[in-house]
Amino acid sequence: MEKTSIDQTEGLFCQSCGMPVAETELQGSDKDGHKTEEYCIYCYENGEFKQPDITLQEMIDLCAGYLVEEGVGEAAARQMLGRSLPLLKRWNTGTAGN
Ligand SMILES: [Zn+2]
Repeated sequence: MEKTSIDQTEGLFCQSCGMPVAETELQGSDKDGHKTEEYCIYCYENGEFKQPDITLQEMIDLCAGYLVEEGVGEAAARQMLGRSLPLLKRWNTGTAGN
């Protein structure tokens, strides 16, 4: 398996949506209520994904919407997300896409 890394691995990023979770208040929680640095509060809370059935493509659509609101061009946002999200733990399951 080829291992690909992204520049952002040094910081804390949600392993589902890629959002920075450096601040504890943005971090999700496990089933015991402990903060987890792996996921953000919007994706993961009390040990469960908030959108357990969301697909990678839907996540890209969702995140692209937020980036566009922040002034990022939609094409650029989708390109960036399409490259980075598949590498995150939630999506990088070892099953090869296309
Ligand atoms: Zn997230």
